[in-house]
Amino acid sequence: MITIGIPRALLYYHYYPMWRTFFTALGGQVVISEPTSRAMVAQGAARLVSDTCLPTKVYCGHVLSLVGQCDYLFVPSVKSIEANVYNCSKFLGLPDVIRAVVPHCPPVIDVDIDINKGQRPLYQAIYQVGRKLTWNPVKVRRAALEALEAHSRYRTMMHEQSLTPIQAIARLYGEGEPGPSAPSVPSRGSTVAVIGHPYVLYDEYITHRILQRLLDLGVRVATPEMASNTELGLGVERLIGRPYWTFEDEVVGAGGHYLNSAVDGVVSVVAFGCGPDSVMLEVVQRYVKRHPTHPYMALTIDEHTGEAGLVTRLEAFLDMVKRRKRLASCV
Ligand code: SF4
Repeated sequence: MITIGIPRALLYYHYYPMWRTFFTALGGQVVISEPTSRAMVAQGAARLVSDTCLPTKVYCGHVLSLVGQCDYLFVPSVKSIEANVYNCSKFLGLPDVIRAVVPHCPPVIDVDIDINKGQRPLYQAIYQVGRKLTWNPVKVRRAALEALEAHSRYRTMMHEQSLTPIQAIARLYGEGEPGPSAPSVPSRGSTVAVIGHPYVLYDEYITHRILQRLLDLGVRVATPEMASNTELGLGVERLIGRPYWTFEDEVVGAGGHYLNSAVDGVVSVVAFGCGPDSVMLEVVQRYVKRHPTHPYMALTIDEHTGEAGLVTRLEAFLDMVKRRKRLASCV
């Protein structure tokens, strides 16, 4: 059986059920890298220039851990999934970067996903990927449709059941890290929205388990995946007018949505070295200054971020949230 390696980083959290369904429907077997570790981050960082964003370094570390574990490595180049809305350049050049910095990696299956080129090139790109496993175009088409269905079920599940991607993947396949235990269970305490890219928020090594820590402190957590597409769209409209950067829109949209909802506070988590986030979260911060309705905290994380400092800031933020709630109940 042909094995396809998928790094547990970057777009894994967005698309894993879709990719897994596609490859398994064609008779392949998917191999996922282990959760991020200190060694992976160090090895990935050693291969890239120092000002590369942390998630790309982490991705590179995951690729290195898959060397010798699979027949092919799946590294898509997701340029655009919506007309005139583009992705960060790191996603565009990912297959080339990986080939350049990990020359001994297994053969890379790269696919250009760019909806702006039209449907025909997109179908051809999907077929090219499928051909690694079968020559039968009908089988590839069927697998692609099944994969799309799996993706839509996954998104709906996270929104309707208030699940994080890790929890949804664990429910679907019984795999992945256990992840934050129960954000869907209402607690008597506060609700805090945590916004950021899923490959930052749900990588427990790089965030020092920030979501689980909030849950342990009795806080209910809301994340971007728990909002509906309509709510995210409205959030984007509120803050930047029109969609511009695909995955940034999810973060800004979640900010715009939660800053106008009944949550008690909002925390943004940004990876060091992220160009798009530095612009887009500035938009969120300016909005907070104009509409100071919610306590807001911005955390920037890099490979050297210490656990103790992060926990102290989190606890100080929660104190502020509680004080605000107390004051509001006295008025
Ligand atoms: S959006 Fe930011 S964190 Fe994500 S890949 Fe691009 S630069 Fe890196």
